[in-house]
Amino acid sequence: MTTHDSTRKFGCTVVGGGIHGTYLAQRLVEDTPLDSSDVLVVDPHDRLLTSFREKARACGMDTLRSTFVHHIGTESFDLENFAEANDREDELVSTVDYPPRPSLDLFVDHAEYVIEQKNLDSLHCQAAVDAIRERPDTAGLRLETTVGAIDTEHCVLAIGHGGRYRRPDWGVELDGVEHVWGEFDPDASADRTIVVGGGITAAQLACELSDTQSVTLFSRHPLEWEVSEANPPWINWSHIEANLHVHPPGSSDRFDVISDARHTATVPPSLYTALMNRIDDGDLTLTQGTVDSATNEDGSVRLSLDHGLQLLGDRVVLATGFEPVFDHPFVERIADELELTRGYRGMPVLDDGTLAWRCDDGRTVPLYVSGALAVETVGPYAPNVPGARRAGDRIAAAIAQHHRPSGTDTAREQVDGAEVSD
Ligand SMILES: Cc1cc2nc3c(=O)[nH]c(=O)nc-3n(C[C@H](O)[C@H](O)[C@H](O)COP(=O)(O)OP(=O)(O)OC[C@H]3O[C@@H](n4cnc5c(N)ncnc54)[C@H](O)[C@@H]3O)c2cc1C
Repeated sequence: MTTHDSTRKFGCTVVGGGIHGTYLAQRLVEDTPLDSSDVLVVDPHDRLLTSFREKARACGMDTLRSTFVHHIGTESFDLENFAEANDREDELVSTVDYPPRPSLDLFVDHAEYVIEQKNLDSLHCQAAVDAIRERPDTAGLRLETTVGAIDTEHCVLAIGHGGRYRRPDWGVELDGVEHVWGEFDPDASADRTIVVGGGITAAQLACELSDTQSVTLFSRHPLEWEVSEANPPWINWSHIEANLHVHPPGSSDRFDVISDARHTATVPPSLYTALMNRIDDGDLTLTQGTVDSATNEDGSVRLSLDHGLQLLGDRVVLATGFEPVFDHPFVERIADELELTRGYRGMPVLDDGTLAWRCDDGRTVPLYVSGALAVETVGPYAPNVPGARRAGDRIAAAIAQHHRPSGTDTAREQVDGAEVSD
């Protein structure tokens, strides 16, 4: 980890040290004239990737949904090579009609290997960014952080979903209602747990807990399976251009295309089968409906459902996802301060070529966006590992072009000429 020197200006500062921020930091060092002393990753956790590790462990995830070419390193087959070199090919789990997926342990160990091999911890500054302003005197931005101001020529926002967890109204005031990525302690003992949610996290958690206790999985909709987060062509930039960028930036049409394409709240087939087997064996119960009322009763939680059924648990664990990142207070603050353009439902309106966030008055601010916040331009895979790669292609090319002597071919042109295969 690096300590922050307030007297210097960085070439690029990445806000967020999750999968996206850690990946992007490598692309900046490898594909732009910036070297590692020019790149800073600001994240409040004590280590890079903590946010992903903690979420994956909390829900008992054992394999990734995405394939072995989607990982934290910059070479497509790096994780596969790592598995071979360490005699861990058996952790590349085969999937019907889909490439193998890595176990969580393999994915995380490989990520640790990349971080260590490339000394990425030395780029990490442990802090949270509170605000971003234009520097009045020179080009660039000033980040106000919990360890002081950081000046930077370029900045990339890689804050994921922003860390605000969605809680249904009935669960806000009750005791014994925990969010899987918040207060929930996977090691705390309980006899009866109600897991709320209908997606991969809820299904994974319900299976995991049902090894040791009575579990009811409670979902608003029937469980559905899908292999991936969206159909695989959405990984390719040419498909994104042809199907998303044809609609006006920031429009509801773009939002609708993404909503239709994303397999939200679905479960991969292997997990679906495991879940159904447990239901058949009587190890867990699946209930569908909506909550009419919720009460505390003798240290338990009682959920009264719309069709009359009552669920009683020692605790309720919410696997209900995130609040939208578009109206996160931090995002609102930055957009207001820098007068950045927002589209339908507050989506950042980005330059489709560079992922720079556009300004209302047409001026250019060197602020780029990756992850869930960039969905309007990167498409349905934007929040996922493949989305980091697509964002990295554009952002690294844009920053490289900025540093390139005029008259030479741009990295952007090279990216545009190459069809993406991972
Ligand atoms: C359990 C689980 C399994 C998943 N499995 C897959 C999978 O198999 N394949 C796939 O493609 N995707 C998967 N995903 C989805 C996605 O890849 C992950 O959510 C991924 O972690 C997103 O990375 P990120 O860097 O955008 O966000 P995060 O991992 O959330 O990282 C964002 C970071 O930004 C930091 N941050 C936020 N605000 C600030 C601020 N103001 N200042 C400084 N730092 C800030 C946060 O502290 C955090 O560390 C999974 C997600 C989860 C939760």
